[in-house]
Amino acid sequence: MALEGIVKPHIRSLEPYRPGKPAEELDRELGFEGSIKLASNENPLGPSPRAVEAVREAAAGVHRYPDGASYALRGELAKRLDVAPGQLVFGAGADEVLELLAKVLLGPGDEAVFAWPSFAMYPIVVQGMGATAISVPLSPDMVHDLPAMAKAVGDRTRLVFVCNPNNPTGTSVGAAEFDRFVAALPPTAVLAVDEAYFDFATRADFPDSLAWVRRRPGTIVLRTFSKIFGLAGLRIGYGCADPELADYLQRARHPFNVNRLAEVAALAALGDDEHAERTRRLTAEGIEYLSRELRGLGVEVWPSDANFVLARTGPDVCDRLMRDGLIVRPLHGFGLPDHVRISVGLPEENERLVKVLRRLREAGGLGTELPGEDLE
Ligand SMILES: *Cc1c(COP(=O)(O)O)cnc(C)c1O
Repeated sequence: MALEGIVKPHIRSLEPYRPGKPAEELDRELGFEGSIKLASNENPLGPSPRAVEAVREAAAGVHRYPDGASYALRGELAKRLDVAPGQLVFGAGADEVLELLAKVLLGPGDEAVFAWPSFAMYPIVVQGMGATAISVPLSPDMVHDLPAMAKAVGDRTRLVFVCNPNNPTGTSVGAAEFDRFVAALPPTAVLAVDEAYFDFATRADFPDSLAWVRRRPGTIVLRTFSKIFGLAGLRIGYGCADPELADYLQRARHPFNVNRLAEVAALAALGDDEHAERTRRLTAEGIEYLSRELRGLGVEVWPSDANFVLARTGPDVCDRLMRDGLIVRPLHGFGLPDHVRISVGLPEENERLVKVLRRLREAGGLGTELPGEDLE
């Protein structure tokens, strides 16, 4: 290839992020309509109607550049989080804030520590800067092994990601463990707590990560409008950092990185507590339903503090589900060939999935049990 000699080696060896197949694409392949996607942890209720209305109203103004400072959204969010407006850094999705962190902190010779399996963007942004990714296996119960991560942090570590609740496992860590871990981190490493699923977490001892932003320089908490707020297609997320780190991230970002429609939609969605509450309820019921039904089919399911479940269905189940118009996320790229991640859908979507899985089980195509092992 003509460019092989000039493209950076750390880019040439990058494994691209593989998003889930869109439902429309599967419809085309199968030649029918009605495929559903339970693979990207989107909000099955759709966006807040208030956000849709705000986008409609703002559409006529898109010949203008966005407000590069996101003034109105920044003010409202700062009030809600009880932080200074200057501590917020907005991005085209939290993904962009992850990338800004890598750009500001990492280069060849630097290291970033994160758990694995965890969010697929971490190795991409780290390697994208030519830095070294140090991934630390989850504990056997699929939870962040924070003591092992603490040991992996060294003199060259500039960035530590903690994904809580963790994607793709849905598991979370509690305050006592988290606080112990953060208290022992050296000041030469920035801590990024990825809380994309914060709003779904139900454990009583969920860590107060913003308290660490207030007292530990070099700390950032990432959140997104893509999940509970249902705005994944508009691309907006943010980081809340200590003022110094926030300032460096602001310098590194493009002036108009968040588009005008995303800004107004996010502000409107923030004000729609009812939609967020409905989403939370639907999600909790969906997690409960899926966990119970899948376990009833002999499938191992992990406890989830997010809007999806990790399930050990056995190999090739994604492909079989696909033939019935159901898209779930395969996890063989994470070294979990027997597992899938299933996003909570609408009740009828969850039921359709369970129905197909039941049929698969009856045909002997489900589960990882040894032949002859009793399923019940
Ligand atoms: C979805 C997700 C994000 C960010 O999503 P954006 O759409 O880029 O805001 C970040 N971290 C995790 C763990 C996620 O699952």
